[in-house]
Amino acid sequence: MIDRLMRHVDKCAVTGCWNWTGAKSTPGKGRKEGGSLPYGCIKVDGKARRAHRVSYELLVGPIPHGFVIDHICRNTLCCNPDHLRAMTNRENILIGTSATSIARRLPSYVILDDVGSGP
Ligand SMILES: [Zn+2]
Repeated sequence: MIDRLMRHVDKCAVTGCWNWTGAKSTPGKGRKEGGSLPYGCIKVDGKARRAHRVSYELLVGPIPHGFVIDHICRNTLCCNPDHLRAMTNRENILIGTSATSIARRLPSYVILDDVGSGP
């Protein structure tokens, strides 16, 4: 499975991003996470799944129930597990995607809430 994933990944030497080169979702479908942005898609057991979520599950671990995978680098096609982190959807919305919010958190990878101490 990892081999299949990596075949569609183009690692950028500058940003460190693993850019997805395979199939992509159509932007603007009104999905919960980043409805206006394209995401990498990969078929797992006949089902289309988000490539970055599959990458996270394969290389980091299971995604806790109710959590979304946030791209720290804001590149929605990126599958580098070092650029991904699990967070609640609420946190993801609170953080936002503005340039200042990215600049604020990229150097230190600050997390707003302690994700591990949820109910
Ligand atoms: Zn990245």
